[in-house]
Amino acid sequence: MTSRRLTITVLVLVAVAVVLVLTTAGCERQASDTETAPRVLLIGIDGLDWGRVAGMIDEGRLPNLAGLIDEGSSGILHSVYPYLSPSIWTSIATGKVEEKHAIHGFLVDRGLTSNPTPTSSDMREARAFWQILSDGGYTLGVTGCLVTWPAEIVNGYMVSSRISTLLRDVGDPTGKDAQLEKMRRGIHPAGMLDDLLALKVMHTDLTDDDILRFLGTDTLPDLDKARSRRDDIARFYASDLTSLRMADHLMESIPTELVALYLRGLDLSCHTFWKHMEPDVWPDSIPPEMLDTFSPVIERYYGVADSMIGELLKHRGPETVVIICSDHGFAGHRGYPGFDGELAVGISMHREDGVIIMSGPGIRTNGRIEGASILDVTPTLLALFDLPVGSDMDGRVLTEAIDTDFLDAHPLTSVESHERREDEDGNEPISSTVDDEVLERLRSLGYIE
Ligand SMILES: [Zn+2]
Repeated sequence: MTSRRLTITVLVLVAVAVVLVLTTAGCERQASDTETAPRVLLIGIDGLDWGRVAGMIDEGRLPNLAGLIDEGSSGILHSVYPYLSPSIWTSIATGKVEEKHAIHGFLVDRGLTSNPTPTSSDMREARAFWQILSDGGYTLGVTGCLVTWPAEIVNGYMVSSRISTLLRDVGDPTGKDAQLEKMRRGIHPAGMLDDLLALKVMHTDLTDDDILRFLGTDTLPDLDKARSRRDDIARFYASDLTSLRMADHLMESIPTELVALYLRGLDLSCHTFWKHMEPDVWPDSIPPEMLDTFSPVIERYYGVADSMIGELLKHRGPETVVIICSDHGFAGHRGYPGFDGELAVGISMHREDGVIIMSGPGIRTNGRIEGASILDVTPTLLALFDLPVGSDMDGRVLTEAIDTDFLDAHPLTSVESHERREDEDGNEPISSTVDDEVLERLRSLGYIE
């Protein structure tokens, strides 16, 4: 009797223990999912064009974007002329027009000064969402967003826009002290530098096989030009891969409530390869073997950007809202809506129709977003985080994309302004060791003289 009771007691205890272990394990997994996954994952893709996205989705070529559009709300994100990426991304980050945030393009004074300098984050005269969310007590991580050099002190981490260019030049991180010191200014907290250095992908690390996915032929034509276009692809791709690896590592190691990152390669590939895609409208003829090889690069880059989004979506938890946005669309010549003129080079290839896609809990499924502007991204972000929108912001909350249940539970609020008096000093550009290279790249894209 006693021994039977003991056996039963042991069995019960074992059963309870098993249940406890299973429950705890379940809870932990549940808890770690919601604790490590961001509440909002904001992915900015330079130059992502609404028309091309819609067309390629119809052809079944962008599965990740298609999935987000099906599950969520989406539409054209209207850009603001003159479609200068640094100004527009700053409008996206502040909800304010250029006149208020004072980032007037790639260069201080739009390059009118005799000694043009790339714009730096301290020149921004409006608070960005990473500052407003930090003040609100939220944790966040920002990787690669434009005009974030030097990195700003936020409640989380920030990897500056220039860091992949800076990283590229550092072979031996123990050697170049001065450059390392500058690089530390590109990262907050600066102590992350060594970890991030290990993640860099150099364009020279990429083999011809890595580049093949962008090309229409299995081999490169035997032309110097072909080699140099191949190296262009390697540069854009390596820079995006670096951002992606960093974002991946940072999301794993430093969970934050908001993650924002920016990818540049698509815009650069559009600038470089448009004439290969539509050679008929270009006056200078391109050798047919170059066309065979390089005509698909832009659409292939769209495909690669889609799979990069797929990689990032692995970090999505059940509570994550994903937002994809772009600063402008892209056109090459007359015939594109919102574009006039014959041929376009450099900055004039940008057109109005960018992309906004939102998907996740609290976001309407199969919703259409109409009349959205780049100025609406920050007000919408603030609403998703239950923070008030500044009445001095020029955008609006994209309520048509948000469930009424969410809006009922989190009514929109506003404050007069998120600006602070102490922010008004310090608007001299801060140089980096890669200023010359930044200028050279802008010249090669036809952005500056
Ligand atoms: Zn561009």
